Amino acid sequence: MENLPRIGLALPEISPDDIAYVTRAMTENWITTGGPFVNEFENDLKAYLDTSNDILALNSGTSALHLALTVAGVKEGDFILCQTMSYVATANPIQYLKAKPIFIDSETDTYNICPEALEEAILDCIKIGQMPKALILVHSFGIPCKINELTTIARNYEIPIIEDAAEALGSYYDDQKCGSFGDFSVFSFNGNKILTAGSGGALICRSDGDAQRARHLASQAKSLAFGFEHDAVGYNYVMPGLNAALGTSQLGNLESKLVSKNKINAFYKELFKEIEGVTFIETSSTRIKSNHWLNVICFDNLCVNHKTPQGLLEYLYSKNIESRFLWKPLHLQHIYTNQSYYGATVAEDLWKSGLCLPSGTGMSDEDLDRIESALKDYFKV
Ligand SMILES: *Cc1c(COP(=O)(O)O)cnc(C)c1O
Repeated sequence: MENLPRIGLALPEISPDDIAYVTRAMTENWITTGGPFVNEFENDLKAYLDTSNDILALNSGTSALHLALTVAGVKEGDFILCQTMSYVATANPIQYLKAKPIFIDSETDTYNICPEALEEAILDCIKIGQMPKALILVHSFGIPCKINELTTIARNYEIPIIEDAAEALGSYYDDQKCGSFGDFSVFSFNGNKILTAGSGGALICRSDGDAQRARHLASQAKSLAFGFEHDAVGYNYVMPGLNAALGTSQLGNLESKLVSKNKINAFYKELFKEIEGVTFIETSSTRIKSNHWLNVICFDNLCVNHKTPQGLLEYLYSKNIESRFLWKPLHLQHIYTNQSYYGATVAEDLWKSGLCLPSGTGMSDEDLDRIESALKDYFKV
């Protein structure tokens, strides 16, 4: 291992302002769940998304997805359509509710859920008299999915959309911000997301009734302001003030983080023009503006001249540079192998041939130089 500082995959970038604001939350003793810092974060998110819909700041993106499914009325045995190319947190809440995920392959323009495979799945569900209860869309790596086609299908069959925008804060589709397309939309603010609150998530509900129900369930379904009556089995999902202070401060710097992400993306795009045998993942659609959360390459053939994703990962690791494989598609996960799947092998091929490269906004020019030399050395450019 080289004796140089580690370049992480997507390390959080913490500014002096962030530290000062978290310190303020501690000084004012608003560190635990709820309180003014949480309200402020919710209001700032609302302003950023320019929405009148209620936004709940929660303790994780996973909690937000769980609440969305719960409030959407998902019950044991219900069918839920879900993109297979995603992090496991997208699907686990389906399992918490003992509902049945139906996994759908990706298409090759955005690497997100394929509209044709989706419609095929819906038609099969209808044949057996089981209209799916919800559709979970994901904007993988920050690249928005084909919103237009997908919302048309969902509306046609009246299936509510849960938009997992965990990776897509700051991405746009047709000049509209991701996180504003679903009946429910979800963000994550965990450590590797573009904006971190340490840990955290947000849920946006399009209907006020849903939002009220979600708020109620997120704080143990307490029905009296002063007293311990609980009218349902609720959850402890509200965001703590400490995390909210960090989130608020980070949100103030979101535009500069987006500029950095854009710069890093341009750096890789230029670099991979010179490197043969790998494709830099990007979309050609002009409707889409990615936040470039993660930069991903794909080997055109597995093992070209003994070059493989595994080989590159290990080589970068030897230079103290972190890269990471893509998520193993959910339908191939041991925990989900008995579930239905629609599509071909787009997600599977991407998983086998892909690698995520360091994309943290805190990387310096020297870090990018080190990455460039390492990649050029490995590919012998
Ligand atoms: C990060 C992430 C989540 C989960 O968020 P947590 O805050 O870590 O619970 C869900 N879905 C996707 C697509 C993610 O990338």
